[in-house]
Amino acid sequence: SEMVKRETFILSVDVGTTSIRCHVYDKSASIRGSCSAKVSLLYPQPGWVEIDPEDLWKGFVTVVKGAKTDIYGGGIYSFVIVSRNTGKPFHNFITWQDLRAAELVRSWNRSCTMKTVHGVMKMLHFLTRQKRFLAASLVVFTTQHVSLRLVWALNNIPQAVEDDSCYFGTIDTWLLYKLTKGLVHATDYSNASATAIFDSYQMCWSGFLCSLLSIPLSILPSVQNTSHKFGTCDPSIFGVPIPVMSVMADQQAAMFGECCFDIGDVKITMGTGTFMNINTGNKPHTSIAGLYPLVGWKIGADVVYLAEGNAAGTGAAIKWAQDLELFSDVKETGAIATSVEDSDGVYFVPSFSGLQAPLNDPKACASFMGLKPSTTKRHLVRAILESIAFRNKQLFEIMLRETRIPITKIRADGGVCTNNFIMQLTADLLGRKIERPSHFDMSCLGAAFVAGLGTGKELATFESKADWDKDGRYRGVLQSWERALQRSMHWYS
Ligand code: ADP
Repeated sequence: SEMVKRETFILSVDVGTTSIRCHVYDKSASIRGSCSAKVSLLYPQPGWVEIDPEDLWKGFVTVVKGAKTDIYGGGIYSFVIVSRNTGKPFHNFITWQDLRAAELVRSWNRSCTMKTVHGVMKMLHFLTRQKRFLAASLVVFTTQHVSLRLVWALNNIPQAVEDDSCYFGTIDTWLLYKLTKGLVHATDYSNASATAIFDSYQMCWSGFLCSLLSIPLSILPSVQNTSHKFGTCDPSIFGVPIPVMSVMADQQAAMFGECCFDIGDVKITMGTGTFMNINTGNKPHTSIAGLYPLVGWKIGADVVYLAEGNAAGTGAAIKWAQDLELFSDVKETGAIATSVEDSDGVYFVPSFSGLQAPLNDPKACASFMGLKPSTTKRHLVRAILESIAFRNKQLFEIMLRETRIPITKIRADGGVCTNNFIMQLTADLLGRKIERPSHFDMSCLGAAFVAGLGTGKELATFESKADWDKDGRYRGVLQSWERALQRSMHWYS
């Protein structure tokens, strides 16, 4: 019979909060096919943000079929509890923007145990590795980590707890389970480490935290290397048995896609939220300001760790402003911001889902402060864009202060990084050059890299003008903005 020369393609899927995106790459990392679909978010109650798991699965299959292999990346901050008996979820995905656990977060963070740990943490810098992890993860719970939202689910969905065969899964675990028709219940180290119930120092689920929070260890998936043959998709789904060669959490995949392989490399992803990560090498970083220690990836015997700082109100604030008709197209926002000299003393607090590190207050409110009769829509737009750059500055400052790792390079990606105003202001405030690749779907590309793709991307560079601090212009602005943050804190009781 005729010999057919077959080219190998790598199919990579990024399951995000606003969309599912799939790219097919050839061996030179060029895109050969793409497909995407919107993810429908459900808002059943104020502060609750959910995704229907079956709907997500259907979207995933449609997108993969639409693009036409081996691999995917997935969002991790959402989770679901599924019955092993029926294969059906007990509830919708509870997403990372969901605030239903805010009360639990606050009471845990205020509890006596936490206060003690916090005190110990500050006094003792020579704690052993394991104790340091316990302290680090106990000091600040947030609603964005899975831990306390899972506690909420276990407390409020009794059918799930009564079904002793139920399992817990983040989005990757759920999709893997569906792809293998229930054969595989697994995740990788990068996804597991993002849940806040995984001990990145010991590289296993944290028995201590799970018993403290009454989370049964039996419901947790097995944890594998990032590059691992997880299983094979059931042929009934795509017509062919596609192997799943890598599963990776989205921020870690973006880090990989940005080639931030070395200690001191930083990437800033600005999408719905901002995720700033620094490569801390072969050691996890223990933070008291609320940076989170993550496993970047584990390939073979090598583990790379990251520290992560996050701001929830980035694209989310821009989308809000658009819905409010402050502008009609996001592409206009940069020009609108530069059409005025400054924000006219108006400050925006981007806190639709609370304020994360270093303030760590899920009960902070979003607000505009300093409104005047002279304030126009343009000033409001400028204040919103500035607030995104200001959060970048805040997160970068804690990274510098806490990790003390010399910064080697900074790369940016995500939908909001197409905004040159935000990029330039961030470069100026950080006093650093920031590089932006021409291909923004870093989570997809990174996950594909794990399957052995080469790199070679064009970069746009934003040089820091570095005089913002000397002329003092933004120094005062930043201080006033920080005052606005303080006044928005503890707003919701
Ligand atoms: P996610 O991966 O979290 O779903 P994306 O990385 O796709 O998010 O980014 C989407 C966000 O980027 C949207 O909120 C959109 O409004 C915003 N965005 C896109 N282009 C611009 C721009 N030029 N200026 C500001 N925001 C933008």
